[in-house]
Amino acid sequence: ATPMSIMTATGRGAHAGVLIKDAEALERFASVDTLIVDKTGTLTEGRPRLTDVVAAEGMTEDDLLALAAGLEKGSEHPLAEAIVEGARERGVRIPDAGDFEAVTGKGVSGTVSGKKVALGNAAMMADLGIDTGSISTRTETLQAEGKTVMFVAVGKKLAGIVAVADPIKATTAEAIKALHDRGLRIIMATGDNERTAKAIASKLGIDEVRAGMLPEQKSTLVEALRAKGAGVAMAGDGVNDAPALAAADVGIAMGTGADVAVESAGITLLKGDLNGIVRARTLAQATIRNIR
Ligand code: ADP
Ligand code: MG
Repeated sequence: ATPMSIMTATGRGAHAGVLIKDAEALERFASVDTLIVDKTGTLTEGRPRLTDVVAAEGMTEDDLLALAAGLEKGSEHPLAEAIVEGARERGVRIPDAGDFEAVTGKGVSGTVSGKKVALGNAAMMADLGIDTGSISTRTETLQAEGKTVMFVAVGKKLAGIVAVADPIKATTAEAIKALHDRGLRIIMATGDNERTAKAIASKLGIDEVRAGMLPEQKSTLVEALRAKGAGVAMAGDGVNDAPALAAADVGIAMGTGADVAVESAGITLLKGDLNGIVRARTLAQATIRNIR
């Protein structure tokens, strides 16, 4: 593209809150055929709220929530904030935790009210050898509603589950359609579980889902798709997403997210919704068309 056409495009982008790093990023974004998007904070608001508390036998909902919130007070994960906030809203007194430990992509553990407590996803429970079967029907129902379920264990026994819902952004569905119209295949990559991820993907018409992903698996996915000849753009907001953004042909950072994500990106969206990606694609394709 000519320097003039690129300046025009980047200027128009900036006006709409779409910051394009350089000519290369713009040109590459015109030609990619695959867009990988993180779920939490990209497709959804990224502000989950506690919706359900299901206690196992011998436990009250408030006791369960107190243990969960006590543990999560030590975590900065959005899921943790939802649990602590939910406990406060319900008037549950939140105890302090000791021996706090976070396991990336899985959950947290520690000592609360003199008990060894662990909270996290199915992989976390599997690691600890804890059977989640007693609440599996309820778990599956909640996940099919697109909610994220976390298991709480006391010692080696399942104490219950807590579920949160993270609403889909109002702009997401229409933006996904527009991106399809502009020739992109869309893949959701998420650390969340498969049933929850698929419930959300099917509401949005997303082409493919990769669930249960650890951060390094997101960049492996980018590399694998590129090795097969795809041109890959990756959009995400988290610290977790930075390696995958860097591995993509074009990394797209949601400017509302972590600084490292922005540093790894060719395109930064000041407003954290997918419409910025639609805008960038339109500008990129128009610029390329003008010079061919
Ligand atoms: P993502 O942002 O894509 O969901 P994460 O790596 O942040 O990916 O989290 C992956 C999964 O690990 C979460 O969906 C959750 O099940 C579990 N997890 C991680 N941290 C916590 C935490 N502090 N509390 C509960 N669950 C957690
Ligand atoms: Mg995330």
